[in-house]
Amino acid sequence: MMPSSLSRWLVGAGTLLALPAAMAAERVNVVTSFSILADMVENVGGEHVEVTSLVGADGDAHVFSPSPGDARSLAQADLVVFNGLLFEGWMERLIDASDYNGPLVTAAEGINARAFSPQAEDEHSEHDEHGHDEHDEHGHDEHDEHGHEEHDEHGHEGHDEHDDHEGHAHGNEDPHAWQDMQQAQVYVANIRDGLIEADSDNADTYRANAERYLEEMAAVDSEMRDLLSEIPASTTIITGHDSFGYFANAYGLRFLSPVGLSTEADPSAASIAALVDVIEEQDVQALFHENMTNQSIITQLAEETGLPIAGTLYADALASEGEASTYLGMMRHNAEVLNAALAQPGHDDHHASDHDDHDDHDDHDDHDDHDDHDDQHDH
Ligand SMILES: [Zn+2]
Repeated sequence: MMPSSLSRWLVGAGTLLALPAAMAAERVNVVTSFSILADMVENVGGEHVEVTSLVGADGDAHVFSPSPGDARSLAQADLVVFNGLLFEGWMERLIDASDYNGPLVTAAEGINARAFSPQAEDEHSEHDEHGHDEHDEHGHDEHDEHGHEEHDEHGHEGHDEHDDHEGHAHGNEDPHAWQDMQQAQVYVANIRDGLIEADSDNADTYRANAERYLEEMAAVDSEMRDLLSEIPASTTIITGHDSFGYFANAYGLRFLSPVGLSTEADPSAASIAALVDVIEEQDVQALFHENMTNQSIITQLAEETGLPIAGTLYADALASEGEASTYLGMMRHNAEVLNAALAQPGHDDHHASDHDDHDDHDDHDDHDDHDDHDDQHDH
């Protein structure tokens, strides 16, 4: 009896250990709302995670409608990661509907949120005390006069109070914070902490992976600054919706678009006409498609203004393949496309060889004119 049952037990144990499925079952099952977060989780989680993104490559998370299958994916997750700041308003409803009770990472928690209130005149007074309006209207000038680094410091000081608003975002804070590589470092720290909460056995690995990934991010950020510094500060860049506000602040550029922070609403004929006026008055060299939005608006603008469409920028989603299929690759791609279309030969040489007298500082009068146009467009 004993030898026989012992051998059966040994056979059973041996079979169990040999099953690859036993390994797979130990992976942390992470569900993210959109593709950029999925890539970040894969970088921090490495071999210990299995990641599912509800909105896939080239998908538009602003207008996503979750399916019953998405609710089931969520119910089976060990960790859920979403952006927050009302980027994916459907996500909190989905979490409620799915009975998911595990750890939840709001990736943008703790970033310095950028205010945005394009038409909401009535809300201006409410937000004046926080410095939102001043930041919005004078952001470009600050860049031009003080340069990137000092602007960043202003931003941090001015936005400390924003932290109080987290958890009840009121819809006029820009959710696209991953477009600033330094804000995205906060995302990675939040994801690391969520993975440690979900799987503390591998905490050391998650810390090491996050550290390495943050170093890679800093290197790409530096590459991007080199590429984007060759674009004259007077250039205005036109994209499909207002997804590049953080990018503009971080890298000293100016973006305009016919649609607001979300792609949910179509642009009005009036807002397109106003943008055509702005394009004709400002230094606009080219228009850019976004990978996940309807491209017809930008195509229409190109027809009306005669400007070329100089490429596709990755705004709210990764590409399904190629360079822009990772977060770092997408950010580098955007900087390369902008550089190829808008860099002025010699601009960088001038910049590098003579800091006291470079183009950025000679153009102040022009910038003031541009700001007036901005105001007309915004209100
Ligand atoms: Zn967006």
